Amino acid sequence: MKIIVQKFGGTSVSTQQRREMVADKVIDAIKKGYKPVVVVSAIGRKGDPYATDTLLSLIDNEKAYLEKREYDILMSCGEIISCVVMAEVLSKRGLKPRVLTGGQAGIITNDNFGNADILRIDTTKLINYINEGYVPVVAGFQGMTQSGEITTLGRGGSDITGTALGAALKAEFVEIYTDVDGIMTADPRIVDDAHLIETMSYNEVFQFADQGAKVIHPRAVEYAMKVNIPVYIKNTMSNSKGTLITASRESIGRIITGITHMSSRTQISVEYGEENQYVDDVFDILAANKISIDLINVFPNYRVFTVDSKQEENVKKILDELKLKYTVVSNCSKIAVIGNGMRGIPGVMAKILKALKEKNIKVLQTADSHTTIWCLVKEEDTTNAIKALHEAFEL
Ligand code: ADP
Ligand code: MG
Repeated sequence: MKIIVQKFGGTSVSTQQRREMVADKVIDAIKKGYKPVVVVSAIGRKGDPYATDTLLSLIDNEKAYLEKREYDILMSCGEIISCVVMAEVLSKRGLKPRVLTGGQAGIITNDNFGNADILRIDTTKLINYINEGYVPVVAGFQGMTQSGEITTLGRGGSDITGTALGAALKAEFVEIYTDVDGIMTADPRIVDDAHLIETMSYNEVFQFADQGAKVIHPRAVEYAMKVNIPVYIKNTMSNSKGTLITASRESIGRIITGITHMSSRTQISVEYGEENQYVDDVFDILAANKISIDLINVFPNYRVFTVDSKQEENVKKILDELKLKYTVVSNCSKIAVIGNGMRGIPGVMAKILKALKEKNIKVLQTADSHTTIWCLVKEEDTTNAIKALHEAFEL
């Protein structure tokens, strides 16, 4: 049985016209001999009536009066509504849809509400429905604990539902449908002439996703990678070939695959000094406070790192309590230049720095790994920096 999973994002199911396009993709797959399992996100994006953010705006977001468990029940509604609406369209088009919540689809998670991990997936019910000729339409982004509590998988979590179901069902491949033609050399909303990357390795896509490209959730990439299942990123609104993600290591002559970024970063430098006896404990204390830090550089007289801007005040408080001397640069953006092909190639960092300097963009910090080079810049320089690098590497 040639099962595939087709996941459709919020914008893909946002209007009747688009839902018809979704139905086209599902019917196409059936015509090709596949048994599709459809996964959907909540309808629309921020501001739309049944989008997750809109549901959350119904209750106080500054102060948590409810426990996390209750938030998950609220947040799970968007995908459930979306499933039923999508199922109706499929039914009108002559298919036999079967709507399932995450829990009904057999997705068992731990009880880490708001960011639950999938423990296992019992596919019995799904397989039975498929055998009976149904097209399962599964609510993305959610699961259920062993004891029946509704959980959500974290924002962007419908992608996780897609690849995790694909893996559990031993699907031929997973298709993630969105509003762009695939993974591009940069966010097409920032760089007009960004172009489609036709093939990528799991590792490269993971880097892209982990470093801020919204187009697929990093954990979704991990699920696919574990069982080596091919993933396509495609456009619901076009017939583009999309991006094919596999384990392939070849980087086809390219040094840089693409550029992404993460905004709302704050850079913090902590100085050493006579009275700064706690400086060695800083990282431990931040970790104990669940504050995640990155771009960490340690120098003889100071250490520097970045945090999510939401944590800026918390970090300051901790450093003040330790009576440490520090400086803060708010509103930074972390640009990531990504490519498997840069491994062992000299001069990539130099080229990046030159390109940024030519545009008068100040680099606050850099870091590198085998496949990624990061540059911290001021947030207002983000667009120019990405454009400059896109041009410099002729992407
Ligand atoms: P969906 O609702 O379908 O899950 P998302 O908003 O999560 O869609 O992801 C798609 C968006 O990701 C695109 O609209 C695009 O602006 C953004 N994006 C960021 N970086 C990239 C990139 N390198 N390639 C393609 N899209 C990107
Ligand atoms: Mg998404």
